[in-house]
Amino acid sequence: MTAIEGFHVGFAPSPALGNASTFIRRRDFLLLRLKGEDGTVGWGEVFNSPFAAAGFVRSRLAPLVLGQPAAEMGRLYQAMLGTLGYDRRGAAMMAVSAVDMALHDLAARARGISVARMLGGALRDRMLAYASGPFIAEGGAPYGAYPAQIEALLGRGFRAIKPRVGFAPRLDGAVMRAARRQVGDDVALMVDVNQGYSVGAAIESARHMEEADLLWIEEPLGPEDIGGYRAVAASARCAIAGGEALASLAAFRDFLEARTFSVLQPDLTVCGGFSGLRRVAALADAYDLPVMPHVFGTCVNAHAALQMGALLTARRGGGPAAYPFVEVDATANPLLSLGGAIAPRTDGTLAVPDAPGIGLELDPTRLEPWLSEHWALDAG
Ligand SMILES: [Mg+2]
Repeated sequence: MTAIEGFHVGFAPSPALGNASTFIRRRDFLLLRLKGEDGTVGWGEVFNSPFAAAGFVRSRLAPLVLGQPAAEMGRLYQAMLGTLGYDRRGAAMMAVSAVDMALHDLAARARGISVARMLGGALRDRMLAYASGPFIAEGGAPYGAYPAQIEALLGRGFRAIKPRVGFAPRLDGAVMRAARRQVGDDVALMVDVNQGYSVGAAIESARHMEEADLLWIEEPLGPEDIGGYRAVAASARCAIAGGEALASLAAFRDFLEARTFSVLQPDLTVCGGFSGLRRVAALADAYDLPVMPHVFGTCVNAHAALQMGALLTARRGGGPAAYPFVEVDATANPLLSLGGAIAPRTDGTLAVPDAPGIGLELDPTRLEPWLSEHWALDAG
């Protein structure tokens, strides 16, 4: 690598995106652009803690990877893990994740092949897309716009839809039973509680939503409450999903040992990029647990998640297609479409690009309208 650039990009969703924990009024990301000896570039992303992760990239990771060949991403991943110190589940791991993602994009691009091909070959060239949305609205009717928004998602080709719930158990049941009547039996429905409930409320909500025939209930509790998840999983008839907030392999081990999740959703930008997620997936294989990447950010992670998804073991989860599905941010997100629209075909699937790297062509000048800060470090 001869250079690392950081692009701090963000925007203010309007209206704010409500979930059971918060109203998202600002979405900020760090995009990393690594440059190889031959001028080839690779992209990586931090979605959760971009400013803290940038500090870690600049102070600890850049000196490690600058001057080194991207093709040695395995050795570099080990070297980066060696810098974590006490921060094994936070922003430092997100920094490692972004650099690892960019190293994979760059190394595959330099060879003229996709990341999936570089990592052994894609198991599939299409995946069922699921819409992440609709979101809770501010004011007196948290789910009031859901019927119209679900109709719009069906019109966009989605055959699987994941609304936010978690406002109140009885309301969750009412809105999801209505959603089931609206979409019919052939469209998959799941819900995301975004860590918002207590154990008792999560169990109540699951009971009220039983008739909606959901594929999964995602993150009903705070992300570290293993005992709580065990209680909810034992009580709910529906599959419980989670894992987007877990970073270290040890954290995944603890949750899998406790048999908490029926669907595992690690995020490439949190759990160590391609290197980290492949380890998590291997661990999950030992538990016969379906894995699908969580993704809610820019075009960079969206493209990376397609490559990763193509490599994961297929498992039937009860929906219209075998897992893994691929998550699509269905909100108005200008950073998602910078490399071209990410939209399902009429059968609800997205193609896995076989183009070099993660299959994304991103001209950095296109980031300018959302750019708040740009920095660059070089090997010199
Ligand atoms: Mg989620």
